[in-house]
Amino acid sequence: MPTSLHYALTDSQCSICGRQLEWKADFDNINQPKYVSQHCNQNYAIHIETVKVVTLGKVSKGKQEEQQEKVMAPMEQDEPKALKMAESMKRQQQQDEEEKQR
Ligand SMILES: [Zn+2]
Repeated sequence: MPTSLHYALTDSQCSICGRQLEWKADFDNINQPKYVSQHCNQNYAIHIETVKVVTLGKVSKGKQEEQQEKVMAPMEQDEPKALKMAESMKRQQQQDEEEKQR
Protein backbone atom coordinates (compact mmCIF):
# COMPACT_ATOMS: atom_id res chain seq x y z
CA MET A 1 0.00 0.00 0.00
CA PRO A 2 1.51 3.37 -0.97
CA THR A 3 2.21 5.65 1.95
CA SER A 4 -0.05 8.35 0.54
CA LEU A 5 -2.99 5.95 0.34
CA HIS A 6 -2.38 4.76 3.87
CA TYR A 7 -2.27 8.39 4.94
CA ALA A 8 -5.50 9.19 3.12
CA LEU A 9 -7.24 6.22 4.71
CA THR A 10 -6.14 7.00 8.24
CA ASP A 11 -6.11 10.77 8.24
CA SER A 12 -9.20 11.92 6.34
CA GLN A 13 -11.82 13.94 8.11
CA CYS A 14 -15.45 14.67 7.42
CA SER A 15 -15.57 18.16 5.89
CA ILE A 16 -18.73 18.94 7.85
CA CYS A 17 -18.09 17.74 11.41
CA GLY A 18 -14.33 17.07 11.28
CA ARG A 19 -14.52 13.51 12.55
CA GLN A 20 -12.30 10.81 11.13
CA LEU A 21 -13.81 8.92 8.21
CA GLU A 22 -14.04 5.13 8.13
CA TRP A 23 -13.33 3.77 4.68
CA LYS A 24 -14.73 0.67 3.02
CA ALA A 25 -13.07 -0.93 0.02
CA ASP A 26 -15.19 -0.78 -3.13
CA PHE A 27 -13.69 -2.86 -5.90
CA ASP A 28 -16.93 -3.33 -7.85
CA ASN A 29 -15.46 -1.46 -10.76
CA ILE A 30 -12.10 -3.17 -11.18
CA ASN A 31 -10.90 -0.42 -13.51
CA GLN A 32 -11.50 2.20 -10.83
CA PRO A 33 -10.90 0.60 -7.46
CA LYS A 34 -11.74 2.98 -4.66
CA TYR A 35 -12.54 3.37 -1.00
CA VAL A 36 -15.85 4.86 0.00
CA SER A 37 -17.11 6.50 3.15
CA GLN A 38 -20.23 8.26 4.38
CA HIS A 39 -20.59 10.87 7.08
CA CYS A 40 -23.07 13.65 7.83
CA ASN A 41 -25.23 12.53 4.90
CA GLN A 42 -22.27 13.09 2.59
CA ASN A 43 -20.47 10.61 0.32
CA TYR A 44 -16.70 10.50 0.14
CA ALA A 45 -14.41 8.46 -2.07
CA ILE A 46 -10.69 7.85 -2.46
CA HIS A 47 -9.66 6.70 -5.91
CA ILE A 48 -6.69 4.41 -5.50
CA GLU A 49 -5.07 5.61 -8.74
CA THR A 50 -5.00 9.24 -7.71
CA VAL A 51 -5.15 8.81 -3.92
CA LYS A 52 -7.32 11.87 -3.65
CA VAL A 53 -10.23 12.26 -1.29
CA VAL A 54 -13.26 13.32 -3.28
CA THR A 55 -16.42 14.70 -1.81
CA LEU A 56 -19.20 13.25 -3.92
CA GLY A 57 -22.07 15.24 -2.49
CA LYS A 58 -25.11 14.29 -0.54
CA VAL A 59 -26.06 10.67 -0.07
CA SER A 60 -28.40 10.01 -2.95
CA LYS A 61 -31.87 8.84 -2.16
CA GLY A 62 -33.39 8.52 -5.61
CA LYS A 63 -32.36 6.67 -8.73
CA GLN A 64 -32.16 9.89 -10.69
CA GLU A 65 -29.22 11.08 -8.64
CA GLU A 66 -27.40 7.79 -9.11
CA GLN A 67 -27.75 8.11 -12.85
CA GLN A 68 -26.40 11.63 -12.74
CA GLU A 69 -23.34 10.40 -10.91
CA LYS A 70 -22.65 7.85 -13.63
CA VAL A 71 -22.98 10.48 -16.33
CA MET A 72 -20.49 12.64 -14.43
CA ALA A 73 -17.96 9.82 -14.12
CA PRO A 74 -15.97 10.52 -17.33
CA MET A 75 -15.32 14.04 -16.04
CA GLU A 76 -13.48 12.77 -13.00
CA GLN A 77 -10.14 13.45 -14.69
CA ASP A 78 -10.96 17.09 -14.30
CA GLU A 79 -10.93 16.78 -10.55
CA PRO A 80 -9.56 20.15 -9.38
CA LYS A 81 -12.24 21.95 -11.39
CA ALA A 82 -14.94 19.59 -10.15
CA LEU A 83 -13.79 20.08 -6.59
CA LYS A 84 -13.92 23.84 -6.94
CA MET A 85 -17.42 23.57 -8.36
CA ALA A 86 -18.48 21.33 -5.50
CA GLU A 87 -17.03 23.76 -2.99
CA SER A 88 -18.75 26.79 -4.48
CA MET A 89 -22.01 24.84 -4.64
CA LYS A 90 -21.61 23.96 -0.99
CA ARG A 91 -20.94 27.59 -0.13
CA GLN A 92 -24.02 28.62 -2.07
CA GLN A 93 -26.06 26.08 -0.12
CA GLN A 94 -24.75 27.39 3.16
CA GLN A 95 -25.61 30.93 2.14
CA ASP A 96 -29.12 29.84 1.19
CA GLU A 97 -29.56 28.16 4.54
CA GLU A 98 -28.30 31.20 6.39
CA GLU A 99 -30.79 33.35 4.55
CA LYS A 100 -33.61 30.99 5.45
CA GLN A 101 -32.74 31.28 9.10
CA ARG A 102 -33.16 35.03 9.02
ZN1 LIG B 1 -19.43 14.13 9.72
